[in-house]
Amino acid sequence: MSAKYIFVTGGVVSSLGKGLAAASIGCLLESRGLKVNLMKFDPYLNVDPGTMSPFQHGEVFVTDDGAETDLDLGHYERFTHARLTRDNNLTTGRIYEQIITKERRGDYLGKTVQVIPHVTNEIKNAMKKVAAMGQDVTIIEIGGTVGDIESLPFLEAIRQMRQELGRENTVFVHVTLVPWIAAAQELKTKPTQHSVKEMLSIGIQPDILLCRTDRFLSNDIKSKIALFCNLEEKAVITARDVPSIYECPLMFAQEGVDSLVLRYLHIEAKEANLAEWRELLERCYHPRDEVSIAIVGKYVEYEDSYKSLKEALIHGAMAENLKLQITWIEAEGLESKFLGDRSYQSQLEGFDGILVPGGFGKRGIEGMLNAIRFAREMRVPYFGICLGMQTACIEFARNVCGLEGANSSEFDPATSDRVIYKLRELIGVEEMGGTMRLGAWQCVLKPDSIASAAYGTTTISERHRHRYEFNRDYEALLTGAGLRITGTTPDATYVEIVELPGHPFFLGCQFHPEFKSKPLEPHPLFHSFIQASYRNRDKRAAAMVPSQIAAEINR
Ligand code: GLN
Repeated sequence: MSAKYIFVTGGVVSSLGKGLAAASIGCLLESRGLKVNLMKFDPYLNVDPGTMSPFQHGEVFVTDDGAETDLDLGHYERFTHARLTRDNNLTTGRIYEQIITKERRGDYLGKTVQVIPHVTNEIKNAMKKVAAMGQDVTIIEIGGTVGDIESLPFLEAIRQMRQELGRENTVFVHVTLVPWIAAAQELKTKPTQHSVKEMLSIGIQPDILLCRTDRFLSNDIKSKIALFCNLEEKAVITARDVPSIYECPLMFAQEGVDSLVLRYLHIEAKEANLAEWRELLERCYHPRDEVSIAIVGKYVEYEDSYKSLKEALIHGAMAENLKLQITWIEAEGLESKFLGDRSYQSQLEGFDGILVPGGFGKRGIEGMLNAIRFAREMRVPYFGICLGMQTACIEFARNVCGLEGANSSEFDPATSDRVIYKLRELIGVEEMGGTMRLGAWQCVLKPDSIASAAYGTTTISERHRHRYEFNRDYEALLTGAGLRITGTTPDATYVEIVELPGHPFFLGCQFHPEFKSKPLEPHPLFHSFIQASYRNRDKRAAAMVPSQIAAEINR
């Protein structure tokens, strides 16, 4: 079978969920027994999102091979079994970097290097490289919105791909908006018509329209869109807003997206088996109870900054048939101005579990330390991820071991006690994004630990994205006072997990487990954190007097 491609573009406005759409199509095709691969092109000039602020760009998703990628790759991995690498996410910046390197090397033999054909060829080659991995279908998402200047080379490249490979090997899926206009009490198709016109002007006729809307599209609307946009009525798909993103594959299946794609690509496949997804949704939409988690971080006002984290918590909660209540707490707001001032405590009361996620820089650290102290002393389940593990060690060193000056050299380079420090000081110029421990690292677990009980094994592999490490010079002091190191790299150089025995759940890990959690395969650490938090909720409920329970129920 020759390589088959699905190209996903977006129109009208951004944030229509192209990534989710691509991931859901991938999921559906897998449910029909096909192997898929997914890739994304981002039209900005940064070489990768590694150096971009989470406020600007949302989370940086990390793959096993250590690529810092767009958060849509997280959706791809959560919805499918595709194994993504740095080849699966390319930016305009990287494409140009590759071209300029070749140009400097003389590879172009004196020719003028131009957008067409050199940039478009580079893009096409990147697509073909991923398709050559041998999966049945490669789904390619083009970032940005049709009409943007930046997206043009990518759109031109996919237009050429259709020319080269033919209709039976390429499908164009266009995600657009069909808004409900309250004043007219009507769904409006004009933005979609304009968006398709824009596509046509650059030579691309969409085959399938995924119409984002808040309600079902009637057959009348569908036939109107089909008529104006030049496609069959069946190819106008209602992509309705759904309460859980994990309903998307089921919704698309209902609309027949998979059958349509397979028909266009001339692929025979077995019937879809979506039983596991149905069960998952059942648990998600009919929870037996809820569990409340406070996330104390620094990018909390922009939820996309912690995309995978939020999803991983949802996966853990769904596995327990619980509804997840997340409260985002700005760490800076928990900083106490005076020694001994514990007014921050009121903000932390009443949660079943507390989590401090990853982050960079000094802002909010003292607030995180207060939150961790609260969790440790009040025996509230605590889960610290990367920065949240480092701060847990600092908190322990300061408040249990009495090392007042304990800190990370990231926040105070001159600190007397560098409990967390940079182990791999690089010689020479420090390139932004270049000095991190990135991607998959193996970790060996102590047999009798929370971690090994959760994983059910003692060797694991998890993804990293950080510069600073636990300083083993302080190991004897901290472990002497009760902290346990339960995970290290196999060569014992790096500390990967710390735990507090005797506490209901207190675990910090240097890696980012959230990147490997999937709805159908919840991550063991998130799952056991949710379990512990729910046990804590039960305990709190048991300790409450009846009037408090009534207040809680009515909350
Ligand atoms: N800033 C810390 C470091 O670089 C933690 C990074 C993170 O949480 N991802 O080591």
